[in-house]
Amino acid sequence: MQHGGSGKPTILLVESDWEYLGRLKSHFKVVCRVLMARTARDAESIAASKRIGIFLIASRLEDGSGLELAKKIRQMKQKSVVCLMREKDELIPSHHKIGIRCVEKTEQGLITRPVLNFWLLEKNSSNQNNLEEFRNSIEILSRTQVEGLEAMDFRLTRDKFPRYGRSVIYRHPEHREIIDIGIASMRGCYGKCRMCLSGRIKKYVTKLSDYEMVGQFLHSLDSFVSYGFRTKINVGFTCGGDFIFNPDNTYRAIKIMKSSGELDLNFIITTIGSNTKIFKSYVDKMMEFPVSFYWSVHSLDRAKREWLMPATKGQSLEDIRRIFSDYFLMTGRRTTLSWMLVHGFNDSVEDVEKIVKFVDGQPMDVKVMLLANGCLPGYSAITRERGEWFVGQLLAHGINARFRENLGSEDIRNKVSCGTTLPFDGQTHKFAA
Ligand code: SF4
Repeated sequence: MQHGGSGKPTILLVESDWEYLGRLKSHFKVVCRVLMARTARDAESIAASKRIGIFLIASRLEDGSGLELAKKIRQMKQKSVVCLMREKDELIPSHHKIGIRCVEKTEQGLITRPVLNFWLLEKNSSNQNNLEEFRNSIEILSRTQVEGLEAMDFRLTRDKFPRYGRSVIYRHPEHREIIDIGIASMRGCYGKCRMCLSGRIKKYVTKLSDYEMVGQFLHSLDSFVSYGFRTKINVGFTCGGDFIFNPDNTYRAIKIMKSSGELDLNFIITTIGSNTKIFKSYVDKMMEFPVSFYWSVHSLDRAKREWLMPATKGQSLEDIRRIFSDYFLMTGRRTTLSWMLVHGFNDSVEDVEKIVKFVDGQPMDVKVMLLANGCLPGYSAITRERGEWFVGQLLAHGINARFRENLGSEDIRNKVSCGTTLPFDGQTHKFAA
């Protein structure tokens, strides 16, 4: 990767609007050595004579197309990061973007981070072509913005079958310095849990490859939500699939994402658990990475749990709890026990008592979420008051419990992803991008 000798990359800013260019420079000069050009012609001649790590090119230049310039530079400078600043709502067809990163032309201070993250991610990558292969393993179909979240719909490009998926990107309201990226590890899921939208997909149920998971991560870094974020990124395997059905690809995907060593990445795996021996081997393998587990329990009554999540049949809850306890001893990372509250099913005083008994003294926190409308046929949405009461009971017993809303409902407004949960903040979610 080409960059100046001082450790700071050299960036060439190419923009015809003089004022905008000046403001861009004032932000980038803190972290880069800055060169500037106002035309494509000037940019080409500077590129031919200088070592430049990053090119940031406006899509509209006074003497031509920024995209054409970006493509030319891409050919000339194979080891540089080439970013195109597209106008808001300007769509760049994916076949034009090979090797080119896109950011939206917006407030100048917000552009610095994503551009630097591309550079951090790619400067140590021994094989630039792999990054392209990861990206090209999925095609982005749309990006829907819902009150500060972004739902990114994609299709797998591996064959002609219509296999679609969704990733979700947001900044957590309680940890605004962190960007959360929820990705799918499967299209559909073999789990067939009754309360899960992924489990209801019948056609083309597919395990995603490591490339397809990493592709979601890389495309998520282009999201409008990523503007202004610092350097911490949580990647959650929360948008479809459970790693117990796809452990090797999930492991490899994490390994690839972690391999740049430059981005501050943490991972969250949600799981229903599995047969003791197999599950232990899956969990132990994750010890080499910063992975935290969210364990979908939902009932401590064996028959009820198996009804809700048929794939949990034959599991020992105590064995799985011990596996997570050992994981804590080795890594210091606590597990979160997830409890989707269903009226008349798992919301009683007896349920509170069972959770307290099960979790007390364990390195385990509890996340209670409400059943979202339409998620479990035959059961209606539970009230927020009931949820607050339930969490209050757990807190009163000294359990570290928190209350979340599940956004993966049939309701269009919140049709985000089954695994996306956020704190309540009144009537609507307000997440500034
Ligand atoms: S809850 Fe998890 S394991 Fe169950 S069907 Fe959904 S994605 Fe699969």
